[in-house]
Amino acid sequence: PPKATNALVQSTCAYCGVGCGVDITINGEQATSLTGSPEHPANFGRLCVKGTHLLDTVDITNRLLVPEIAGEQVSWDTAISKVAGEFNKIIKQHGPDSVAFYVSGQLLTEDYYVANKLMKGYIGSANIDTNSRLCMSSAVSAYKRAFGEDVVPCDYQDLEHTDLIVLIGSNAAWTHPVLFQRMQRAKQINPACQLVVVDPRRTATAESAEQHLAINPGTDAALYNGLLNFLAEHEALDKAYINDNTQGFDEALAEASHWDMAKVSQFCGVSQAQLQDFYQLFLRSKKAISMYSMGINQSTSGVDKCHAIINVHLATGKIASLGSGPFSITGQPNAMGGREVGGLANQLAAHMDIENPAHRDLVQTFWQSPHIPTEQGAKAVDMIEQMQSGKIKAVWVMATNPLVSLPDHNQVAKAFEQCEFVVVSDCVADNDTLAYADVKLPATPWLEKNGTVTNSERRISRQRGALAPAGQAKHDWQIMSLVAQKMGFSGFDYQHPYQVFTEFAALSGYQNAGDSKRVFDMSGLARLTLAEYEQLQPVQWPIKGPIKAGVQKSARVFADGQFATVSGKAKFFAVTPQLPQQKVSKAYSLVLNSGRYRDQWHTMTRTGAASALTQHLAKPYIAVNPQDAIKLGLTEHQIAHVQSQTGELFVPVQVTDTVNFGECFMPIHWNGQFSSNATVSTLYNAVVDPISGQPELKHTGIAIEKA
Ligand code: SF4
Repeated sequence: PPKATNALVQSTCAYCGVGCGVDITINGEQATSLTGSPEHPANFGRLCVKGTHLLDTVDITNRLLVPEIAGEQVSWDTAISKVAGEFNKIIKQHGPDSVAFYVSGQLLTEDYYVANKLMKGYIGSANIDTNSRLCMSSAVSAYKRAFGEDVVPCDYQDLEHTDLIVLIGSNAAWTHPVLFQRMQRAKQINPACQLVVVDPRRTATAESAEQHLAINPGTDAALYNGLLNFLAEHEALDKAYINDNTQGFDEALAEASHWDMAKVSQFCGVSQAQLQDFYQLFLRSKKAISMYSMGINQSTSGVDKCHAIINVHLATGKIASLGSGPFSITGQPNAMGGREVGGLANQLAAHMDIENPAHRDLVQTFWQSPHIPTEQGAKAVDMIEQMQSGKIKAVWVMATNPLVSLPDHNQVAKAFEQCEFVVVSDCVADNDTLAYADVKLPATPWLEKNGTVTNSERRISRQRGALAPAGQAKHDWQIMSLVAQKMGFSGFDYQHPYQVFTEFAALSGYQNAGDSKRVFDMSGLARLTLAEYEQLQPVQWPIKGPIKAGVQKSARVFADGQFATVSGKAKFFAVTPQLPQQKVSKAYSLVLNSGRYRDQWHTMTRTGAASALTQHLAKPYIAVNPQDAIKLGLTEHQIAHVQSQTGELFVPVQVTDTVNFGECFMPIHWNGQFSSNATVSTLYNAVVDPISGQPELKHTGIAIEKA
């Protein structure tokens, strides 16, 4: 880190998957100012309120600065020996699948890579999963099934070249604000461009749209099946594209053909006139983008919903070309980087498959590692179940707070209580998960971390360490490397994230030998010098050859109609729309939806420290429709007692017609660390999509009464 006066460090924002570049001014030991990087292609200088106040969240008073065992401060040597010793002992007694890592989209790619290499290649288990499981794993599964590989086929610049943006299951104005501002600017430049928002709530995003379809919760797949059927009936499909580049169309259309306008209208709860407007608009638009996030993914049929969207784009040829495509936007700064290195329990590194023996062989040979798992590991919710059943006896949590974010909070708490050995690496001294830690390891936070992240459009950017690690904090890749070495493993002699990054970049090219269809490849970065790595400007993969200086041009994927499937053709999937599994009942008759609030991030361990971010809203709330409020005798600000099948909480009421009659909404952020504990995950069952394992966090039945 620089110590000069007014030294400039270019980095990226710590929060969402837009991946905005930031310029940080350092004076001595302090970061004194922060602005958006004017040249960064994700934001061109713009920041949202969370990004603007990043420096206000740098709170040394709640930092974990020294390792601890059972609440006592210890040396790093002692802490590392304890972790390595306990993991080795448990693995020896119960096998590699008795231990697990639960990691995070906040980790940098270098951290993620080392975690995955240690668990899969050396411990020999695939029990590593990430909080990104809660974010976009349904989108990952659908891309992989449809295209043969988890590849997002869109860029942010598509927004400036499209005629129609459909935001479905996304409140981008609050969750991806800078990207949403870009959509608004694109519409100003091209007034013909229309914005349609599909969301049960009248969000800030919906209020700025030309059309808002307030569908019944969870009915998105029927809306897109109906669209496919409508386009087919109006002969508005691209038959040449379907014939040349896809397979499975007839089966998908046969299923969609059950969804005529009347049936969609009844199922989705929107009028036929509204449907007609939307469907006609899609038909007329030469180019169209469907952007989606948690409203689609966090569902027991999230993968199907993604397929319903992808089907429409394949059938119309509105894909893999400037201004068109099905665009999943990621929630976290490095959810995409985690996908690249195989940070999910069902992936190997570099987009390779655990079930594929050739892929296993490639990775193991590259790593020269003693093991490689032959089966998928425990996904996030399975991990909790296996901790409760005693199958998983040791867990290491890194940079995430699952006690707040995973569904069915009470069961998660029991699982952590029962787990024999819990290690938590975090930058903060206190959060709900740290309360269960046998060993606490102080990790560096944003501003001290050094490495790379990949945003929603596959763009790799440097996150640079602007300050030296505070106290005794170490980087996550460093901590894991020390534990790996203490466990007796070679292959972890890293001194700098540059070594980790170039090793991973080399692996990404190594895996492509003999498989030209595979898209993920960043081997062009494998020969960077340390100086080039330090100076690396944002660059979008695939990167097969050496890069030139400066910001790189976008890399269009699948433009030749060749996909990464065995046949080279993209696959349609027939979708039978399903309703959410957590249904309303007589006892729990209101639907609860949950999501982000504009000014807060996840479990508030950082944004909770910035007073500027609590000015607009300091406390949690439950949004209740005025008619429901009258029926239940609830008034504004009154404390409500909210119950579901799985738990209860107390929270102030907000009476608002932004939610429909019978539907409520709560933000996900407030939890036991704050005086206003409203951990919304308490109210959700741990039910998941059968393919992706992503939990259903948008729909459960609740009862509300005056407290
Ligand atoms: Fe940070 Fe996302 Fe806001 Fe950009 S849009 S400043 S990445 S929170």
